[in-house]
Amino acid sequence: MRITCVGGGPAGLYFAVLAKLADPGHEITVLERNPAGVTWGWGVVFWDDLLDDLFRYDPVSAERIWEAACQWDEYEVRATGKPVTHLPGYGFSLGRHKLLEILSTRATELGVRISWSDDLGDPSALPPADLVVACDGAGSRIRQSNAEHFGAEVDVADNKYIWLGTPHVFDTFTFGFVRTEAGWIWYHAYPFNDTTSTFIVECTPSTWSGLGFDTMDAAAGTARLREIFAGHLNGQPLIDQRADLGGTGWLNFRRVTAQRWDHGNVVLMGDAAHTTHFAIGSGTKLAMQDAMALADAVASGDELPVALERYEHRRKAAMAPLQRAARASSSWFEHVGDYADLPARRFSYALSNRRGEFPVWRYALHISTQNTVPRTLLRWTLSARRWSRARRRPGTTTVAAGQVIPHTA
Ligand SMILES: Cc1cc2nc3c(=O)[nH]c(=O)nc-3n(C[C@H](O)[C@H](O)[C@H](O)COP(=O)(O)OP(=O)(O)OC[C@H]3O[C@@H](n4cnc5c(N)ncnc54)[C@H](O)[C@@H]3O)c2cc1C
Repeated sequence: MRITCVGGGPAGLYFAVLAKLADPGHEITVLERNPAGVTWGWGVVFWDDLLDDLFRYDPVSAERIWEAACQWDEYEVRATGKPVTHLPGYGFSLGRHKLLEILSTRATELGVRISWSDDLGDPSALPPADLVVACDGAGSRIRQSNAEHFGAEVDVADNKYIWLGTPHVFDTFTFGFVRTEAGWIWYHAYPFNDTTSTFIVECTPSTWSGLGFDTMDAAAGTARLREIFAGHLNGQPLIDQRADLGGTGWLNFRRVTAQRWDHGNVVLMGDAAHTTHFAIGSGTKLAMQDAMALADAVASGDELPVALERYEHRRKAAMAPLQRAARASSSWFEHVGDYADLPARRFSYALSNRRGEFPVWRYALHISTQNTVPRTLLRWTLSARRWSRARRRPGTTTVAAGQVIPHTA
């Protein structure tokens, strides 16, 4: 089969890897508008569920991802005028650059052709292929060129956000809320290698304009944010990738939905089909799980229309709960002001329960784990669970917890 993937993000590259593994006879080309090694964004987070899937589908790339990943062991919540509180839970993070490097190397090893610096201007000008996978991201030109057929909609969220990096290496996943004269502004930050952390800043539009970000260029904007978050950055700067390109990285999140994902031999995948608010850090996971489902469908031997429909049904059903969680989560962040006056423990509990799904006993656990001994015991328990889960994965039976992961919070 001749397959063209338009877009060399996590979805396109991982699908190319899996389709080639399923049938080395496929001729697969990935078109990517950026040069090799160039991408946007900083580190992304993920959890054991993605690792389990990755090891099941391709242990080789999974092992490389795991080895490069950073591990964090709890959440820390900081807010102006409140003592620091903690939330249980561990996860992993990895630079987007590193993830794409691992996936593109693996794809090339398997015989996938990656055409870098290849910007598809006109979707109708694609060379003939049996299957065209539109994995060209949230702004997908292919989806937009047939928006009516796909039933595509884009909702623009109210809050402003900016995805920054910083050389300050946070100890663990940290939410920090700062009260300013124009209202609350906050960040979601986590380390993703030994030298860098992701630092996503968010606020309401009125706080954003009240602080003057609507009139500042990238350099002035990051300098102002550095001032606002001075107590959290240990003297380190914030980096806006847009600074050298003109403009700033401030955006409004765009929630993409599509009623149909296929059109003839063209199929949408990853952010081109659906986006998921960054407040639950799952877009990359969903994009890669799309790739797994599409690779399974293509390998099933069914006629293409049947295979594509099966892929779409499977993915829409699987992601519905996460999409609901993402909406609840982004809505919580749009109303931070309603919670900000709560005492510290109740505030961080409200943050952790922003999907509104916790049973009553979770509050008692939350209160007790603000003390060192129960908190440490819970961390050990979660660590044991992580270790046991890792041991069950193919190819990792000899790896002890933390052994292959460079940064341990
Ligand atoms: C602030 C922020 C934080 C996030 N944090 C997380 C996180 O912690 N965890 C997580 O799982 N997810 C996170 N995400 C979501 C994640 O980044 C996306 O869901 C994921 O990148 C989707 O992968 P994709 O391959 O579908 O699309 P993309 O990663 O967008 O890749 C699409 C590719 O297509 C290329 N392309 C586009 N148009 C063309 C064209 N015309 N011709 C050729 N190439 C083209 C682009 O250059 C790009 O490389 C975050 C998103 C944001 C905005």
